[in-house]
Amino acid sequence: MAQLNRREALIRIGAAAAVLAGCGRRPTTQSDVIVIGGGLSGLQAARLLESEGLSVTVLESRNRVGGRILSYRHIPGSPEAGGTSFGAGYARLMQVAQDLGVGLVNLDPIRNFFSQRELALGGRIISAAEWPEHPLNVMPEPARQAMPWGYLPMKMVMNNPYPAPSDWLSPDYAHLDVSMREYLTGQGETDAVVDLCYNNNPGWGNNADEVSAAMVLFAMRFAAAQQGFTGPDGGSAYTAANGNQSIPEAMAASLKSEVQLERRVTGVSDTGSGVDVHCADGSLHRAGRAVCSLPCSLVRNLAMEPALEGLQAEAARSLDSQILNQLHLIAKRPFWEDDGLSPSMWTDSLAGMILAERKGDTPEEVTSLTSWTRGPLAVEMDKLPDEEAAARIVADIERLRPAAKGQLEVAAYHSWYNDPHAVGDWAVWQPGQVTRYADHVARQHGRVHFCGEHTARANRGMEGALESGDRVAFEVLDLV
Ligand SMILES: Cc1cc2nc3c(=O)[nH]c(=O)nc-3n(C[C@H](O)[C@H](O)[C@H](O)COP(=O)(O)OP(=O)(O)OC[C@H]3O[C@@H](n4cnc5c(N)ncnc54)[C@H](O)[C@@H]3O)c2cc1C
Repeated sequence: MAQLNRREALIRIGAAAAVLAGCGRRPTTQSDVIVIGGGLSGLQAARLLESEGLSVTVLESRNRVGGRILSYRHIPGSPEAGGTSFGAGYARLMQVAQDLGVGLVNLDPIRNFFSQRELALGGRIISAAEWPEHPLNVMPEPARQAMPWGYLPMKMVMNNPYPAPSDWLSPDYAHLDVSMREYLTGQGETDAVVDLCYNNNPGWGNNADEVSAAMVLFAMRFAAAQQGFTGPDGGSAYTAANGNQSIPEAMAASLKSEVQLERRVTGVSDTGSGVDVHCADGSLHRAGRAVCSLPCSLVRNLAMEPALEGLQAEAARSLDSQILNQLHLIAKRPFWEDDGLSPSMWTDSLAGMILAERKGDTPEEVTSLTSWTRGPLAVEMDKLPDEEAAARIVADIERLRPAAKGQLEVAAYHSWYNDPHAVGDWAVWQPGQVTRYADHVARQHGRVHFCGEHTARANRGMEGALESGDRVAFEVLDLV
């Protein structure tokens, strides 16, 4: 608590200093609206505002646009380290890609490979044939054949309580804002099933106790809502040609004003007639209004004058993002042909979930491997230098798959939590946070407006980011 107060005090001192710093200075840019952050949500807002005749300055802290969309173009097939794929039902994203001439890659031909993975528990690979009778199998009697990664998602899609995705925010469903463990055990699952199926490779939060069922069920309902849509070539799921980063790049290129890269915003102050936005490089940007697209993990560090208040301030302080690390590997030879197993794996150890990327000329061609490490294992890796973390994950794969020994070349490693421009992946709503903060997190604060994936109400991920960009642009347009 003492630490928190000290940090808040420092931010407030910073905010006051920022106001003084702006007095009498000539700004580097002057526009109708400043958008903080050049990810999908900020760029969507900027495009819409510009299309309505406003002048917009986008300030982006990285040396590239796209934020949590990151395509590794130096690796064969340009695998994604961030936003990975999207459904044909992502109406906004599909429209943006079409309007800006970004090519789409239909993922349907490789879809069948997603379910082909090896299960590795307790340091051993367990075949699908062994699994139903295996001593580590804690699944209920009728589902002993089900693999741990598919069982809970299947049940949460089939028994989903929400009539529509946006119902996760309805007071009628507030009783679902409890931990995943409480929800699942209430549905008859055992703690052992929760530990096996959720806590190994948790998709949201570090474990089933620290994430709200309301949010996970929303994610499942959103995924189910994607069913039945098809793209222009009849596909159901896509990536963008040359990597998903092509989409934010095309969005940025379509803006009248070039995105200002390497402008890390440190403070936003309301001057009474507009906003002054301060960057770490000393530049000052002035506008009538500001749109902040940063996740709460970063909003909490902005010096805001006046400061956020009440539940909005509490949300900014406490809504965290997923801890997740990705290791991209190139196989020197297809070692899976030597041991006769699938290159993809789902493990309870450092290797996490390994997905074989199939981004070559044929669906059979494996272009690279991506390991996703999450939860407490990712927390441990975040304490190590990147090279050491990558080496430990490789060693774990080699332990599970002796045929992989000496065959894996590290092509890239990214900790989203250690990334100072993100401090985590997607927002993770903890039990009780949905009902407490969802109506406050994006509340207009004087001349400052908020967007970003975490503020989306009916869509998730990339489509959620675009939804929030639309919403915030209309919010601003209503006032100017
Ligand atoms: C590993 C991973 C896998 C994913 N998979 C999928 C998927 O399959 N499907 C899906 O739909 N979604 C997926 N997502 C989620 C999706 O990528 C995000 O929800 C979306 O890109 C978020 O966009 P945003 O605009 O809200 O935030 P961001 O992209 O984070 O945009 C915020 C921007 O602000 C910048 N910034 C940060 N601090 C400052 C500062 N102080 N000053 C100025 N600029 C700043 C950042 O650099 C960033 O560009 C995934 C994400 C990750 C990381």
